[in-house]
Amino acid sequence: MPVSVPQHIVPLDSILPDEPLLMMGAGPVPIPARVAAANGIVINHLGDTMAQIIEQVKVMSRYVFQTEKGQILGVAGPGSAAMEMAVANLVVPGSRVLSICNGFFSSRLSEMSQRLGAEVFKLQVPDAEAADPQMVEAHLKQHRPQVLTIVQGETSNTVYNRHLAEIAALAKQYDCLVIVDAVCTLSTMPLDMDEWGIDAVITGGQKGLSCIPGVSLVGFSQRAWQHIEARTDQLRHWCLDAKLADQFWYKKSYHYTAPVSGILAIHEALRLICNETLSLRYERHLRCSEALQAGIEAMGLNLYVEKSARLNSVVGINVPQGIDGKTLLGHMSKRYRVEISGSFGPNIVRIGQMGEQCRAHNLFRTVHALGSSLNTMGVKLDLPAGMAALECWLDKYEGASGQALTFA
Ligand SMILES: *Cc1c(COP(=O)(O)O)cnc(C)c1O
Repeated sequence: MPVSVPQHIVPLDSILPDEPLLMMGAGPVPIPARVAAANGIVINHLGDTMAQIIEQVKVMSRYVFQTEKGQILGVAGPGSAAMEMAVANLVVPGSRVLSICNGFFSSRLSEMSQRLGAEVFKLQVPDAEAADPQMVEAHLKQHRPQVLTIVQGETSNTVYNRHLAEIAALAKQYDCLVIVDAVCTLSTMPLDMDEWGIDAVITGGQKGLSCIPGVSLVGFSQRAWQHIEARTDQLRHWCLDAKLADQFWYKKSYHYTAPVSGILAIHEALRLICNETLSLRYERHLRCSEALQAGIEAMGLNLYVEKSARLNSVVGINVPQGIDGKTLLGHMSKRYRVEISGSFGPNIVRIGQMGEQCRAHNLFRTVHALGSSLNTMGVKLDLPAGMAALECWLDKYEGASGQALTFA
């Protein structure tokens, strides 16, 4: 035995904090207790029990994606694997792809298309702005792409492509398949796959769905599925081959051993969404995010994106002058046990409003941690005004809808 037993391994208890940190960043997000419990179970990946669970996951997904007949497939992997599954199955090497690039994640879709041997045309959207349908149409006209890729919410810089439905309709006019990354937005704000004519919707576990990371879902339209079935070339990705995944998801047979625990967790996450209903869930996300934004502004901080292009699922806050973002995050984490995210790109910090993050008690704790930490670091903020604005918004909402903003 040339490799000896490692000597300094400590149990997780000694590494993890006694009380879990409150995860209020851009993902992963806190998960409901039922999701956590489901994730602790292992069952046979084939057989009647699994078949029944898969059937329900598909039915619930069709509701969450808002598609009657879309082909729902799961993938053992991060949101990025779901992105790659959508791209690899719809983008034929040598074909033309128009990538609407708002930031880090939308650019990832263009890179994936490039790696698949597509001819990629990028529409670079100015920073902190939503994609403009007229510009998109000009590019559709000029390049005649077979596939368009776009993000609904650009998590990296907190931009919301609010004209997504219009852009998808335009793409359809030009006979172009539309791939939408909805990792941070699905179930937090409206996305109607059928009505908007979207051909592939991508989601991950750890953001909008408030589930675990590492298990994801993709929905393909019937048009997309026909395209996939008609392909005669061999896909370069074996694990991500939708026709092979279909064996497991629709024909009760083996593709690879499914991430059973993760699928059970997704089942519970979807079930909680169905119980809440999409309309109440959208409403909860909208009001909580607006309350958060009001609280942040009332204490004297500025939001990064103008209201017209601002994403509600992840809120970007300008780091005040003279403050180092990383130090701020460290302070919030250490002193208040609240984690929020920095950014790759603009000088902002980001607070998530996805799933369990949209609860009143989490918002109070987060806004307090942010304001108090900045005060300690020497930024003069009116924290009481921020807390009052937050409370005022949340009260108004609970009063109006009667929906509790506390526990799932
Ligand atoms: C997080 C995220 C991804 C990538 O998800 P991973 O699970 O990290 O691969 C893709 N797109 C968007 C919009 C995201 O927010």
